[in-house]
Amino acid sequence: MNTDKEQAEEKLINEAFQGLLASYLASKHRKKVDIITRAFNFAKHAHKGVRRNSGEPYILHPIAVARIVSEEIGLGSTSICAALLHDVVEDTDYTVEDISNLFGPKIAQIVDGLTKISGGIFGDKASAQTENFKKLLLTMSEDIRVILIKIADRLHNMRTLEHMAPNKQYKIAGETLYIYAPIAYRLGLNKIKMELENLSFKYEHPEEYAAIEEKLAITQAEREKLFSDFTAPIRERLDAMGVDYTLSGRIKSPYSIWKKMQNKHLAFDEIFDILAVRIIFNPKNPKEEANECFNIYIALTQLYRSHPDRFRDWVNQPKTNGYQALHMTLMSNHGEWVEVQIRSRRMDDIAEQGVAAHWKYKESGYVEEEEVDLNKWLHTIKEILDDPQPDAMDFLDAIKLNLYSSEIFVFTPKGEIKTMPQGCTALDFAFTIHSVVGTHCIGAKVNHKLVPMSHVLQSGDQVEILTSKTLNVKPDWLSMVTTAKAKSKIQGILRREERNAVKEGETILAQFIQHEDLIIDESAILRLCNLHGYTTRNQMLAAIGKQTIVLGDADKNALKGNSSSSNFLGRLFRSSSSTSKPVTPTPNAELPVQEIDKKRPLILTDEALQTTYHMAPCCHPIPGDDVLGYIDDDGQIIIHQRKCPKAAKLKAAYGNRLVAAQWSTHKLLYFSVSINIQGIDGVGIVNQITNIISQELNVNMERILIEAHDGIFDGTIRLRVHDVDDIKVICENLKKLPNVRSVVRIDE
Ligand code: MN
Repeated sequence: MNTDKEQAEEKLINEAFQGLLASYLASKHRKKVDIITRAFNFAKHAHKGVRRNSGEPYILHPIAVARIVSEEIGLGSTSICAALLHDVVEDTDYTVEDISNLFGPKIAQIVDGLTKISGGIFGDKASAQTENFKKLLLTMSEDIRVILIKIADRLHNMRTLEHMAPNKQYKIAGETLYIYAPIAYRLGLNKIKMELENLSFKYEHPEEYAAIEEKLAITQAEREKLFSDFTAPIRERLDAMGVDYTLSGRIKSPYSIWKKMQNKHLAFDEIFDILAVRIIFNPKNPKEEANECFNIYIALTQLYRSHPDRFRDWVNQPKTNGYQALHMTLMSNHGEWVEVQIRSRRMDDIAEQGVAAHWKYKESGYVEEEEVDLNKWLHTIKEILDDPQPDAMDFLDAIKLNLYSSEIFVFTPKGEIKTMPQGCTALDFAFTIHSVVGTHCIGAKVNHKLVPMSHVLQSGDQVEILTSKTLNVKPDWLSMVTTAKAKSKIQGILRREERNAVKEGETILAQFIQHEDLIIDESAILRLCNLHGYTTRNQMLAAIGKQTIVLGDADKNALKGNSSSSNFLGRLFRSSSSTSKPVTPTPNAELPVQEIDKKRPLILTDEALQTTYHMAPCCHPIPGDDVLGYIDDDGQIIIHQRKCPKAAKLKAAYGNRLVAAQWSTHKLLYFSVSINIQGIDGVGIVNQITNIISQELNVNMERILIEAHDGIFDGTIRLRVHDVDDIKVICENLKKLPNVRSVVRIDE
């Protein structure tokens, strides 16, 4: 390397570090420049000569992460040092002890936490990825800074994702969407959560991302006009009231727009809440900020009509991630609904920076009435971890349930308020009160009316749990609960009962053997399993323990080895009363998959369908969809849509089994696809639609179902097409019909 280049790089590194220092010095933290500079020099020395995929010196990555930690998360010197050192132990010969000696035990402990989880679910060295995810959550419940720095690390990796191979991009983008964005949301890092989602979206659906960006640019002038017309009277009123405020417009992120388009089958111009107005004020008296929120709200309702169903008071009832604000939807003078959010400066900081901002305000002496309920949440996570799930996917689900749920408020009979996730049942509520109440639950009274345990609760319900003295947990309870806590408690009890049944079974079998005076070995036990159709010894012992099997002559013969008669009896027995289920193997992350070159994208040709690759039955991809391949337990490549919910889980849990895939089809094969079509009912509409599809476009219809009521029609049509382009042509042509209002592809 020539010295010019060396010097240029040295300059680049120093500028990056000075940028970090400047942002730190602008914060409210104590100025510990010395230790930060030492950490920088040490990390720079340790990573010397190493480069990132992009070709730039490695040290630029830790500097960037430290800057995010300081500037965007608002943490202080300890976290900045840990961020600078976060890859040292993982990637160089230095140890945690070295870090401890040089920078003290606290920084070393955080770096240790970051190192433990680095190869984890989120790296590529992992064999059992969930194991590492558990580690992540455990370290995070010890020091929350570990996960905050980890999120900064991930954010920087996402910002520089273009330098990775496509299959790695899907893995990282998938994990980010499935795990990191929810965690960021749960910690109140709303801005970072939004950026993580947008970046994931950009890599998984580049064309759709670009299309939305373009439409946002085209409609910008329109929105600016709406904003200035709508806010002018508000400014006038707030000025007259003497409020110290800033008014801004919040634009919905491309990812949120896309998600709404997907979920509600809307076109871009049918999304009406792209613009929201945000009023941030400095309270005259910090103790009165809630009242000042409401005063502004009242002033606004005197200017504009307010939508009765869309008022949300997060000021008096903060979200569990600490978010506070008043949300309302007002009717503009031109008849558009506009969402307005009112927050104090403090509430806004918390909305943007979450937990980190909470610390900031605690130090500066604000009186916090509602602490962030983080400890409670971390406690729930610990409870789940204490009760390990055998299946990786279940485990991710359990955690995710608790990360993303929107909340409802439920009252106890004494009027105490509890925050619960939306969609929770009376049984969930019982477990929230106490696991003893949960395990003994037999039903509930909701608003004084008797309901079953599976009853879904609504916000504002008053719930009284009815219990009995006996323990009532049954396997079907698992389908009645949605909270992670209830699920893991029920699973724990079921497993414990299973273990007890196995023990009981062992005793019964031993007594039987003794009583019948038999001498047996392991093969005898195997014969007994075969007789009853169980694949494992424990399953059979549990059945004996629960007395679903009552030992008799057939068993005696099987144990002795008299197979001729026992097999016949065994078959009879099995067909009448066996309840055992076949055991489904859980995917093993270390499966040998050498034949497949994961580095190169798999080319999906018409000819290779069903031989080298298969279409996933869950999301039915067709040529032209954004897809990826997943290598299943049998070593087969299954093609999923990138947006498929099942694929999302696979990306997060088994990222190492992903292969990038590209279409190269020649319009040989046909695929089934459904579209939804809506519009104004009129004579001959069905005729017009079918005419376009089969006559003009010459496309085969498999099924057509159109219903009309109250002047509106709504139809689903299943078609045979080659690829996504065919669908686009069909939708565009149908949209030209005068009465048709929307045509979209749907997953049936
Ligand atoms: Mn890193």
